[in-house]
Amino acid sequence: MKERYYYSIASGSGGNCSLYVSGGTAVLFDLGVSVRRLRQALGTLGMDVPDLAGVLITHEHIDHVKGLATFVKKYDVPVYATGPTARELVRKTPPASDKLRPFFGGEAFPVGGLSVQSFLTPHDAAESVGYVLRGTEGALGFATDLGFMPSQVKKQLTGCDTVVLESNHDPVMLQNGPYPWPLKQRVGGAQGHLSNPDCAACAAELAQAGTRTLILAHLSEHNNTPVTAFRETRRALDQCGAACELYVAPKDAMEAPVLLDAEGRVCCL
Ligand SMILES: [Zn+2]
Ligand SMILES: [Zn+2]
Repeated sequence: MKERYYYSIASGSGGNCSLYVSGGTAVLFDLGVSVRRLRQALGTLGMDVPDLAGVLITHEHIDHVKGLATFVKKYDVPVYATGPTARELVRKTPPASDKLRPFFGGEAFPVGGLSVQSFLTPHDAAESVGYVLRGTEGALGFATDLGFMPSQVKKQLTGCDTVVLESNHDPVMLQNGPYPWPLKQRVGGAQGHLSNPDCAACAAELAQAGTRTLILAHLSEHNNTPVTAFRETRRALDQCGAACELYVAPKDAMEAPVLLDAEGRVCCL
């Protein structure tokens, strides 16, 4: 618990859940895996659910909250979500109500030793958000499930030493892929998911502003590959000449956490 690290437990349309530990505080982003799978992943790090200071929910889509109903029945860990997201969760998961800590999209609040800044994201959910978590060891920005990169989101992520950013699809693969036309429009639309080129362009700007570690997340299984996503953003980072480590969050749990030092650089793996 003493190190600072980011560990993706699941990423993509099948489920999303990741862990961030900094300054002795451990938080989850989303809970789109079963409690069993969560506990298994935490166990590999010598942790268990009561070690968590909170769960930060981005929005109510099933790939982000699949494990929540069981989780809130078993544990007393607070679950943070915007008011409209919380309402959706209570509707779908009634036992969640007394564990939920609703907040206003854009509000800041403390979780353990970290200060959490939320910000609104463009996505077809009740009121989706991303987060910046600041502590004495550095700042991590988290933004997935966004149809495009609004300037106010980029502003929030700017200056974070570590950023987890959606790199959902390759536009050509999406166009030629198996999805029906309405779904293609949804995924590629302004309330859908961030494409590889949009991610790459933003990544280059963030790296030039000081981001030292980037983790690509929420890759589509059908309209992307880890190699395609990595190449696109790596190329943009190399072209702008900024030193930035790049990782891709796999569909299932990472082999090992991405360890971060005070500047967000990876010190070992
Ligand atoms: Zn979503
Ligand atoms: Zn999603």
